[in-house]
Amino acid sequence: MNNYINVIGGGLAGAEAAYQIAKRGIKVKLYEMKPRKFSPAHSNKNLAEIVCSNSFKSNLHTNACGLLKEELRLLDSLLIRIADETAVPAGQALAVDREVFSERVTQELEKMENIEIIHEEVGENDISLKQICEDTITIIATGPLTSDGLSKEILQITGESNLHFYDAAAPIILKDSINMNIAFYGNRYEQERARDEDIEEWKNKLQEKDTSYINLPMNKEEYEKFWTELVNAEVVELHQFEKKEIFEGCMPVEIMAKRGIDTLRYGPLKPMGFTDPRTGYRPYALVQLRQDNKDATIYNIVGFQTNLKFGEQKRVFSIIPGLENAEFVKYGVMHRNTFINSTKLLDNTYRVKKNTNIYFAGQITGVEGYVESISSGLVAGINAYNQLEGKEKIEISEYTMIGALAKYISTPNEKFQPMNANYGILPELEGKKIADKKIKYGKISDRAIQEIKNMKIAQ
Ligand SMILES: Cc1cc2nc3c(=O)[nH]c(=O)nc-3n(C[C@H](O)[C@H](O)[C@H](O)COP(=O)(O)OP(=O)(O)OC[C@H]3O[C@@H](n4cnc5c(N)ncnc54)[C@H](O)[C@@H]3O)c2cc1C
Repeated sequence: MNNYINVIGGGLAGAEAAYQIAKRGIKVKLYEMKPRKFSPAHSNKNLAEIVCSNSFKSNLHTNACGLLKEELRLLDSLLIRIADETAVPAGQALAVDREVFSERVTQELEKMENIEIIHEEVGENDISLKQICEDTITIIATGPLTSDGLSKEILQITGESNLHFYDAAAPIILKDSINMNIAFYGNRYEQERARDEDIEEWKNKLQEKDTSYINLPMNKEEYEKFWTELVNAEVVELHQFEKKEIFEGCMPVEIMAKRGIDTLRYGPLKPMGFTDPRTGYRPYALVQLRQDNKDATIYNIVGFQTNLKFGEQKRVFSIIPGLENAEFVKYGVMHRNTFINSTKLLDNTYRVKKNTNIYFAGQITGVEGYVESISSGLVAGINAYNQLEGKEKIEISEYTMIGALAKYISTPNEKFQPMNANYGILPELEGKKIADKKIKYGKISDRAIQEIKNMKIAQ
C-alpha cells in the first residue's frame, strides 16, 4: 500500500478531506482539474469554490444545518473555521464572502507541506482513476458535475450501470407535522378492496399502520384552489446547461398542471382506488406521500418534483388539506446532479463496501448542500487516514447530524434521493413527546453536541 492518500476533486468535500488527512501527518495528492478545465457551474480558479448562494444557512442550533456546523467546529473542520472567519453580516445565518473564502482555503492547503496539488483531470489525459488508485487509498470528491471521463470510470469501479444524472426531487415533509385527522394510511386499491369486504374490518385495517403511504384527499373546491395557486406560482430560473436534461427526464408538477385543470387528477393526483374515511366516498383528487426513511419519520410527496421557489413550495403545498402546518425538511429541486447509489455501495464512513481502498465524499454521495458536503469530506478524510495507519474505523454516532447523514446515505433505500441535514433523520428523544419544536430541537441538538464531545477522535 502506498504511504499517501489521493483526493480527487478540490471542492468543498475534497478540500476538507485533504486537510483532515494532511494535518494528521499523512501525504495527500489532491487532484483538481481547474483551472485547466471548468465544470458548467465553476468559474473561479481557487479550491473550495462556492458555486451558487453564499449562505451556509442558519447558525442556530435549533436549525439542522446550524447543528451540523457546530458539530463540525468541534471536530476542527477547516472549511467551517474559514467560513466563520470570512463571514459577512447575514443575521442568524452564516454567509461568506465567497471570493475570500475560496482564496483562504486555497492558501491554507497550499502551505501545508503534506499536500501536493495536481491540476489535472482524472479520467482524461492518461490519468486514469484505475491507475492512480492502485494500492492507494483514494477519496473521490468530484461533486455533482463530475466530468464525463471520470463518471465512466466510476461506473466501472462501482460495477453500476448508471449514475443518477439529475435531481428531480419532490419535497420531503416531517411526518409529525401532517394533520392525521384528514390524512389516512393505505395503498391504492388495497384500501378500497378492504372496504368492499367488510366495513368494520376496513376501518380496523386503516388503523393498522402500514406506514408506506399517507393519503391526502381533496374535494373539488379544495383541488381547484390548489391548482390555481400552483399554475400561478413563481419558479426558479434554470441554468442553460440544465434545461435540456431535466425536462427530457422528468416533468415538474407545475408544468404538468399547466396542461389543463384535470391533468393532475388523471396523473399523480388520481383518486382511483381510494375511499375517504371521513365521507365514505372516493375523493375528487388525492395527494400521496411516500415513506422516505426506515423509521417513517419523513415522507416525500409522490410526483411533486418541482422547480417552484422554496417559499412558493411552502405556500402552495400547504394549501393541500392535511399539510396546513407541514414542516418541509427538504424542498423539491431540479438541477443537474451526479450521485452514486450510496445506499447500496457505501458504508457509514463513506467507504466503498466492495472496494475498501476507495471512499466517496461530497454531493456525489447523495448528501446535499455545502455544509453536508464538508461533513462527508471530514468523515471520509479521518477514516481514510485511520485505514492507512491501521487504526479502527470511526463511525460517528447516529445521534449527531454528521452521523445521521452518514447513516442515511448508507442505509438501503430503493428510492434514494439526495438528502440535506434535517431533524427528521435523527432518532427521536426518549420519553414523553415534546410539542414545542424549538424546545425539542434544542434538546436533540444538546444530545448531539454531547455525543461529539464524548467521542475520542485524535486530532
Ligand atoms: C448549480 C448548482 C448550484 C448549487 N447551489 C447550492 C446552494 O446554493 N447551496 C448549497 O448548499 N448547495 C448548493 N449546491 C449543491 C452542493 O452543495 C454544491 O454543489 C457543493 O459544491 C458540493 O460540494 P462537492 O465538494 O461535492 O463538489 P464541488 O464543490 O463541485 O467540487 C468538486 C470539484 O471537483 C473537481 N472535479 C470534477 N471532476 C474532476 C476530475 N475528473 N478530475 C479532477 N477534478 C475534478 C471540480 O472542478 C470541483 O472543484 C449546488 C449545486 C449545483 C450544481
